[in-house]
Formats: sequence, structure tokens, C-alpha cells
Amino acid sequence: MIKKFIRSILGKNKKDASSTEPTILSQKQHGIDLQLVSPNAIRVTQTLQEAGFKAFIVGGAVRDLLLSVKPKDFDVATNATPEQVKQLFRRAFIIGRRFQIVHVMFGQELIEVTTFRGASADMAPKDEHGRVLRDNTFGEQHEDAVRRDFTINAMYYDPASQSVLDYHGGIADIRAKTLRIIGEPEARYREDPVRMLRVVRFAAKLKFNIDPASSAPIAVMAPLIDNVPAARVFDEMLKLLMSGHALACLQQLRKQGLHHGLLPLLDVVLEQPLGEKFVTLALANTDARIKQGKPVSPGFLFASLLWHQVLEKWRAYQAAGEYPIPALHLAADDVLNAQTEKLALQRKIASDMRDIWAMQPRFERRTGKAPYKLLEHLRLRAGYDFLLLRCASGEIDAELGDWWTAFMEGDGPEREALLSRKPANSSSAGANPGAGPVAGASANAGPAKKRKRRGGRNRSKTGGGADKPSSDGDA
Ligand code: ATP
Ligand code: MG
Repeated sequence: MIKKFIRSILGKNKKDASSTEPTILSQKQHGIDLQLVSPNAIRVTQTLQEAGFKAFIVGGAVRDLLLSVKPKDFDVATNATPEQVKQLFRRAFIIGRRFQIVHVMFGQELIEVTTFRGASADMAPKDEHGRVLRDNTFGEQHEDAVRRDFTINAMYYDPASQSVLDYHGGIADIRAKTLRIIGEPEARYREDPVRMLRVVRFAAKLKFNIDPASSAPIAVMAPLIDNVPAARVFDEMLKLLMSGHALACLQQLRKQGLHHGLLPLLDVVLEQPLGEKFVTLALANTDARIKQGKPVSPGFLFASLLWHQVLEKWRAYQAAGEYPIPALHLAADDVLNAQTEKLALQRKIASDMRDIWAMQPRFERRTGKAPYKLLEHLRLRAGYDFLLLRCASGEIDAELGDWWTAFMEGDGPEREALLSRKPANSSSAGANPGAGPVAGASANAGPAKKRKRRGGRNRSKTGGGADKPSSDGDA
């Protein structure tokens, strides 16, 4: 205790997990540009401070400000209780049961206010693997700092004095571009295995190196992620995939050995040579959209990641004698069921994925009313973008994508001309001519009646929902 005290008095640059006194940096020393700080976040800290509480901007926002990056959102940490916070703001809502936080709303902007967390995780209830189950005691600021994940995420910024409080050497690590977990890495991963996924996300996003002591235990401890509730893994995966650096994140996951046997999704994505090009294109596309501020649908993203698994199963069902459309639905069911165990794909996302997949064979049908019917599909845009990805990856002939681009952009006579035009070659003659379900799917444009009966039986057998576009009824 005395040793620790002396160390903190001496202001050792390298802080450890026991730091109770922060290093305080002035604006001149840290150089944060106040212009990058949300006026609403300043309003929140100011209001809390005027009411006699401590209040700081904390976490990722401070990290980003120190890197001169405009933060995407702002979190505030305070010693006021959630009830006390709520009373100070007009639109403030307490959320969460196990650990309450307050959402303070200003128009569209949400500032998340948390009360300093207290005590060490040693005392918290845990599962048999050491994962902390509840974490709901309030405490001192230095205790709050020690409970955070990385040194660079444990700094506090006071907009009023423009000072930064650094408890664990975060500034030095920012300057050295190092991602370092606070405390003993093994113990911290055991408490919360999701931190291993966070290491990967931040390393890829910030282009930081992972401190060797922080990365060493990951390969061995990766299986602990199996015990984390699926919904939490899903949230973190979604953050990773929507970070604008999805491709780099997946490469980093692979490097850390985190993809193996751990998330079926990633096993599939990264270890299928066939699908690799498709997934790479899909993620590069997603990253580009996010960087341009365009919306990205999680359904589209997961549909892309799992497409080649669906393709493989689709083929297998057809080889076993199933008709193409029911075979596709069976394949989709198998893939979704395998993933939900681990990832808790939300219903809406799973239904979007199904829609996108089920639409694919319908693009093969380029006669009669079928293409017009498809134009009315609510998810047409997503299905079409997906089709273009399949073309770009070489899975199917680019001619099909071009035809649909022309059909969607064309006026009445142009569309009629396209419909009467015989495709230059069969759209199934893609990268694997005649071998895949695409070939089977085009064959489906044939005798519809028989398939209708089979399709209906199979869909009801597997519980296929009404959300599945009818693949046979519009011939
Ligand atoms: P981003 O820019 O991606 O939002 P972030 O650092 O703000 O990055 P959040 O998930 O928003 O990430 O978390 C906010 C802060 O809460 C983190 O900076 C960190 O201090 C703390 N935190 C989040 N998750 C954990 C965790 N699993 N263990 C410990 N601390 C965490
Ligand atoms: Mg954040």
C-alpha cells in the first residue's frame, strides 16, 4: 500500500492497475481541440458540475480526441447516481437493470452517462469459468478507471478546465500506438472474454500494435468466448463489422487465432477459398459505405458473410434430389439455425437475410411477368446489390447483373426489348458452369406446377415463413 502510494506521489509515468492518482495533463500537453467536442456533451458535464458533481467525458471519445479524430459518440462518467443524473435533464432515461446508465437525449444525439463503477471485479459474482456475471457497484473515479478495458480507453476529459486525467499511462500508449489491457491480461479476459474481440477491433480500427503481454494469452483463452451470451457476442461482432474497418478486423481476428472453432460464422467466412473473394468484396463495400456515411444493413452484411455456406448446402440438397427452390430454403434454414446458437441473430436480421438469399434465383427468370414482379419486392435493392456482388466475385456471369441494371434503369419499351432479348449465354454459365445451384435455379424457370407442389411441402415442413418470397407463383 505504502509502496503504491509512494509510486503515485513520484508520478511514475508507467501506471499500473493500482493507480489511484491520475497524471493530469493541460490543454497544452494533450492538445485536444475543443471544436471536436460535442456541445451537448459539454452541456452534460457542465450541468453535472454546476450541481456539485464530478463529470468527465470518458472512454472512446477521449481516445479519439487525443488522436484528433472526431468521436462518433460521447460517454460521460460521473459520481452522481442515475437518479441524480435523471433529475438534472429534461429528456433523460434510466436504462439497464443490472447496471443502470442514463441516456440523455438532445434531438438525435444521445449522451450516455454512467456512474463511476466501484470495487474490484474480484468480489463480483462469476460463472464457473471466471466470467463476471454482475457488475453493479458504484465507486470512486480511480476504481472506475481500473475497471475499464485498455489504458487508452481509461482517460477522463474535463471540458471546463480542458484537462485530461490519465490513470494508467494511456497518453504514453496513444503516443506509442499501443493497445494495452489494464491489469493482468489473463484475469481481464477471464472476467470478460469479449475484451479479446475488442482488442482486435481497436487494433484494426486504430492501426495500433497490441502489447505482447496483452496479445499472448488470446490464442489460449479464445474458447472462453463460447461461454459469453450469444446476444453479447453478436453486439460486439456487429460493432466490429460496422466499424468501417471490417476487413482489417477479420484479418486481425485470424491473426490472433480468434476465428477458429469460436464463431462458426468466422470459421466459415475465413476458411472457404471459394467464398473468400465474395466476402472480401462484401466487406470492402461495407467499409467504403460506412466511410462515406451511407447506411449499411446488418442483414445484408450477414447474408454476404454466410452466402457461400448457403451455396454449399444448396448444392448438397439438390444433389440429394431436392428441387432448387425448396433446396435453397432448406440450406438457409440450416445455416441460420447453426448461427443463431452462437450469434443470436435478431429476427429482423435473419428475415432480411432470407429475403436476400431467396431473391437470388428469381433474378434468373427473365421472361414474362416475373421480372416486373421482382421489381415490386420491398428488398429489391438489397437483393440486386447482392446479385452484383455475386457477379463481381465471378460466381455468376456478369451478364445477368448487367441485364438487371439495364432493366431497372430502363423505361417501358427498353424493358420489353430486354425481355425479348435472348441472353447471350446462359446466366448459369458463371465460374462453375453447370455445377452449382445457379444452374439448377435457372432450370426452375421450367415446369412450374410440379415444383409448386414440392416447394410448398418442403417449406411448410421446415417452417418457412410468409416472409419468404414466393418463388413459383409468378411464372
Ligand atoms: P467506440 O469508438 O467503438 O465506441 P469505445 O471505446 O467508446 O469505442 P464502447 O463500447 O462505446 O467503446 O465503450 C465505452 C467505454 O467503456 C470504453 O472506452 C471502455 O472504457 C469501457 N468499456 C467498454 N466495454 C468494456 C469491457 N468489456 N470491459 C471494460 N471496459 C469496457
Ligand atoms: Mg463509444
